[in-house]
Amino acid sequence: MVTIKGNIQQVRARISRACEAAQRPVQSVTLLCVSKTFGADAVREAHAAGERRFGENYVQEALDKIAALGDLRASLEWHLIGPLQSNKTRAVAEQFDWVHSVDRLKIAQRLSEQRPGSLPPLQVCLQVNISGEASKSGLAPGEVPAVAKAVAALPRLKLRGLMAIPEPEGDLAAQRVPHRALRELLGQLRAEGLDLDTLSMGMSADLEAAILEGATLVRIGSAIFGARAIARARAPGS
Ligand SMILES: *Cc1c(COP(=O)(O)O)cnc(C)c1O
Repeated sequence: MVTIKGNIQQVRARISRACEAAQRPVQSVTLLCVSKTFGADAVREAHAAGERRFGENYVQEALDKIAALGDLRASLEWHLIGPLQSNKTRAVAEQFDWVHSVDRLKIAQRLSEQRPGSLPPLQVCLQVNISGEASKSGLAPGEVPAVAKAVAALPRLKLRGLMAIPEPEGDLAAQRVPHRALRELLGQLRAEGLDLDTLSMGMSADLEAAILEGATLVRIGSAIFGARAIARARAPGS
């Protein structure tokens, strides 16, 4: 029988094989379990199997889940990986530990202003439109250095690195191209003096390519929780 626990073991085995191939220590890659569209029970099951970090795309769905899992809050880390609009920043600043999808300085400024002083700084990544499609969210690579410097200076945020969602590609060599570009962009920012340690890249279909190119955090949904049945209908502003 396919279980969340069994799927996690398989994903962890893929990560360790990829780390071996890349000659990287397995601890250099963090697993983020992407629980969007799955219920609190699925998160509970993954938590029971030892997982602590969960990624969500839709703010309202995530807030409901965070509330339903309030008893586990101290041992969970919640990461927002989906688009964030200004009218949702307060709830996110108050409830999440990480935001990977910062793509405008204005959103970062609001998150910093709204992050409660009782919590540690919100950990953030800038989302980069690395494959360059007009329709996708994320900063153009050329915009990243200036925005990164401004975000790094905000008091209640800690800029950790970069995130991307490359276009799906069939083979490993093609998958590596955008991941390599994101790694090189991170290297450029570090050379310019920014203290960054996170490359959030790699999903169920391309985690090997991402790890070969230096991913430090892979965001895995369907390989752990199963196929998402339908593209979720989204309420306006969610
Ligand atoms: C859904 C999603 C994932 C996980 O994708 P899978 O292919 O199911 O592993 C990772 N990152 C982001 C930003 C997502 O929206």
